[in-house]
Formats: sequence, C-alpha cells, structure tokens
Amino acid sequence: IKIDHMSAEVTDSNPYSRLMALKRMGVVKEYERIREVSVLIVGLGGVGSVAAEMLTRCGIGKLLLFDYDVVELANMNRLFFRPEHAGLRKTEAATATLESINPDVCLEGHTYDVTSVPHFEHFLDRLRRGGPDGRSPVHLVLSCVDNYAARTAINQACNEADVAWMESGVSEDAVSGHIQTLFPGRTACFECLPPLLVASGVEESTLRREGVCAASLPTTMGIVAGLLVQNALKYLLDFGDLSYYLGYSALTDHFPRHTLWPNPDCGNMWCRRRQETWRGKGRAWQRRETDC
Ligand code: ATP
Ligand code: ZN
Repeated sequence: IKIDHMSAEVTDSNPYSRLMALKRMGVVKEYERIREVSVLIVGLGGVGSVAAEMLTRCGIGKLLLFDYDVVELANMNRLFFRPEHAGLRKTEAATATLESINPDVCLEGHTYDVTSVPHFEHFLDRLRRGGPDGRSPVHLVLSCVDNYAARTAINQACNEADVAWMESGVSEDAVSGHIQTLFPGRTACFECLPPLLVASGVEESTLRREGVCAASLPTTMGIVAGLLVQNALKYLLDFGDLSYYLGYSALTDHFPRHTLWPNPDCGNMWCRRRQETWRGKGRAWQRRETDC
C-alpha cells in the first residue's frame, strides 16, 4: 500500500498525521522538512538497524546504509532482523524491509568495509554528495559500529567533508551506552579525546579473547538507538536541547550529560583546520552554549 506521504489530511489511518501533529502542537516548527533530509548510517547491527527503522517511520527523505556483514542467526537477540534474513547482506535485508515499511524513503545500500583504503574515497564521496539532490553533502552521519578503527575512519571522513556526525556505543557487558554529537571544529572530534586504546596505538584485534563473546541486550541497544535518533531529530528539525555527550547506565538509570570541546593540539590535521575556521565564529557559538 502506498501511503500519501505527509498528506495534510488528518485521518486516523494516515501515519503521517500523527507526525504532523508535532507541528500543530508546537513541538517542531516545520516537520515536513524531514522529507528533504538525508542521513548516512554506518553499521546495521543492534543500534544502526533500529535507528534506520525509526528514521524510516519518521518519513526521512533519504538513507544511505553501510555495513560489510551478513545477517546471522546469532543476531536474533537484537531487534529488526528476522531469522529468514540469515545469510543475506545486512544492507540488502535492511533496504528490503525499510522499503516495505515506507516506500517514500530513498534508500541506498553499500556493502563494504569503510576503513579499507580502496573504499574510503567512495565513502567520502557519498558523504559529500549523498544529499537528496545527489550533489550536496548528507545532513548527518550516524556511527553505529562496534570498533575503534571504523569510528576513526568515520571521524576522518566527517572532518574532511565537514559533516556533522553522531556516534553511539554500547559496552561489552551490555549494561551501559552513550551517544555523542561531533561538529567538526566546534566540538571534540574522536581523536581530540581518544579512548586510551586508540591513543596508545594498540591493535584492537589483538585484544579479542578467543571463545569469549561480548554480552548484548536488545533493551540497551534499543534505548541507545532511541537516544541517538531523538538527538538526530532535534538537530535536523531544530527543536529542544541537543546532547553533546549523553551516557546511559542501565544498572543505576543514570544519564550523565556533558559538552566536549575540541582539543587545539588534536592529532587530526583536518580537525585542527576545522577548528581554525570556527575560531572566530566558534567563540560566539561556545558563549551561547555556556549561557544556557
Ligand atoms: P556482534 O556482537 O556479533 O559483533 P555485530 O557485529 O552485529 O554483532 P553490533 O555492535 O550489533 O555488532 O553492530 C555493529 C555493526 O557495524 C555490524 O553490523 C558490523 O558489521 C558493522 N561494522 C563494523 N565495522 C564496520 C566497518 N569497518 N565497515 C562497515 N561496517 C562495519
Ligand atoms: Zn580533533
């Protein structure tokens, strides 16, 4: 069934009238702007696939999905994928499901490792030209990967292309997580305050213990996906207060919230360049942030 997207008609059977009610109730000024928005998601695991589904149900204009893996039966403790998807590429299974939920969303899927040298240029190009018109940059990148190497590649591409991104993570014991908003030059990038492991240059794969698998819970992953997409909607549709770093501890229901400023001595050359560009404008921006 093709649903007339964002139809102004208010009927109980039209899912978009419930979204447009956000506008009538004064939460969002122009909800229909979501149709012009393009979001790139890296990683379609427990967080990324759910984030993609949420954005699809919100009526996003375009989604660009990246993942190198196939669906496994071992992924069934997460949301979104179903047993009949086992063996399919995550990008293909996801685009088919999302298309059936909302055929109005423009979907693009790429199955490769974003850290690999031959693919990085293509990835960077999709950031720069993946907007709904096929010429402008994407509005936002969501990082939903589970390793530092992929986050470092996303950080590099976003600093180079000057594109805003939001990062997410869930701990190995599955009972805590976080989201972070990164504006090149304006807030800390992934290398401004690197995790100790990244700063010390330890190869991540050497740390994996044979036969020991990380825990994972659909609850924590669903909560982190919800926090991530809520923050993305606030940014894209300009409502509420954006979170720059928002933690979540499931054991104590604690949500620490901070702003992380850029490091002038960051090891990433593109981050330092973006900081220079923002130095003049950025001061005014920082003042406004601290005033609130
Ligand atoms: P497991 O817990 O078994 O590792 P998972 O690999 O699905 O499960 P998640 O944390 O749920 O882990 O999801 C992370 C997703 O990010 C995965 O689908 C993975 O394939 C994807 N991913 C990680 N690194 C890259 C990369 N460099 N390029 C593309 N996709 C990546
Ligand atoms: Zn930096």
